Parts: sequence; structure tokens; C-alpha cells
Amino acid sequence: MMKISDNLTQVRKRIQAAAQKAGRSTSDITLLAVSKTQGELAIRDAYAAGQRDFGENYLQEAEQKRQQLSDLDLSWHFIGSIQSNKAKTLARAWDWVHCVDRLKVAESLNRHRPENLNPLNICLQVNIDNEASKSGCKISEIEALAEAVAKLTRLRLRGLMVIPSPENSTPAFKQTKEILNNINKTYNLELDTLSMGMSADLGEAIQCGSTIVRVGTAIFGARKK
Ligand SMILES: *Cc1c(COP(=O)(O)O)cnc(C)c1O
Repeated sequence: MMKISDNLTQVRKRIQAAAQKAGRSTSDITLLAVSKTQGELAIRDAYAAGQRDFGENYLQEAEQKRQQLSDLDLSWHFIGSIQSNKAKTLARAWDWVHCVDRLKVAESLNRHRPENLNPLNICLQVNIDNEASKSGCKISEIEALAEAVAKLTRLRLRGLMVIPSPENSTPAFKQTKEILNNINKTYNLELDTLSMGMSADLGEAIQCGSTIVRVGTAIFGARKK
């Protein structure tokens, strides 16, 4: 079995190669280690190898790990599906929420974000394949959502997040970048984040402008559940 530190080295090399090919700086791309279903020790291994940003999908599981790991200086990103009843917990201590797809959830996060913390970093999830079964805001409604969320002072709207179907990912990544550019132009914003690309397609995503790649299995191996 490969060690987590070796896996991280491999993933960083892939990021570096993709960035170079795209004429981009590696420092503009954040590696988010997706640690869902992985235990405390796996995260400690990744931390020891220099990893600081971690992504989790299941709030209860993640809150337990956050407590176990409170001695480490980590940045926590929520990338799971989000309902308003999770907003209070997320707003109290998390650093990023990537999957906001409606105003009600954003307002709830905004209301609960404590004054003593920095504004919560937000990405809006776009249903980029326009499939009824998928979560995310409709493409036709994303500009209006961005305009509204950008006004919430306890949030810092950073950009967009997508999970395209694998067979269509490159055009979807390109379209996401276009949508971000249009939002910035239309509303005079400076959104700087595209959360896109996973273990299988991080190179393509970086080619299309990704600034956060969310990588699970390529770092930690197969998931535990
Ligand atoms: C699990 C997950 C990932 C990581 O996927 P891998 O294929 O294991 O790299 C990335 N993003 C989201 C939203 C996920 O749920």
C-alpha cells in the first residue's frame, strides 16, 4: 500500500505538471484533501506531509474529527450537500462551504457566522450538466443567486463549484469558468475561485482554470465505507 505522503507527492506533481502546461502558477491552485470516511490518523499523516486544507461531506462525522484534531491548524471545507439545519454548525467554525445552491442556506450561514471570525468563504454549486437529479443551482439562476449572496456581509463569496459527469467534464469546466467571468463582469465582482476537478480529472480542471482541486482517493486510497 502506498503511503499518504507518497500519494500527496504524486498528486502535487500532477498539479504542477498541469499548471505548467496551462501556463499557470502552481501557487494559484489549492489542493483540498477530501478526507470523508477517513479516520483521524489518516488526516494526521497528511498534515505531517504538509497538507492543511481538508474537505468533508458528512457533518456529524466531520465534527467529531474536527474535535479530535483541534490541536492542528487546519482549514476545513464543507463539500457535502447542505440544508439550512446544518448552517449553524458550519457557520460557527468552518472556513469554507463549497456547495451553497440557494439563498435560504446562504442567509442562514450569514446569520450564524460569529462576529469574531472572518467572513465564511462561500462557493455556489452550479448544476452544470442541467440534470434534474443533480444538486446545485440552475445555470439560468446562478447570476441572481451570486448577486444576492455577494451582499451578505458575514459571507465572502469566492466563486463556483461543480461536479460534472465524468464523460463531459472538460466542456463543463470551461463553461463554469465563463459563468464566473460573466458574473464578475455583470456585478463588478472579483470572484477568484473555481472549485473543480477531483482525483480522475484534476489535470483537465486546472487546464480550464480550476483554483481548488478536491482530491480524495488519489491521496487516501479507497474510501472506508
Ligand atoms: C468525494 C468527493 C471528492 C473526491 O473525489 P475523489 O474521486 O475521491 O478524488 C471531490 N468532491 C466532492 C464533492 C466529493 O464528494
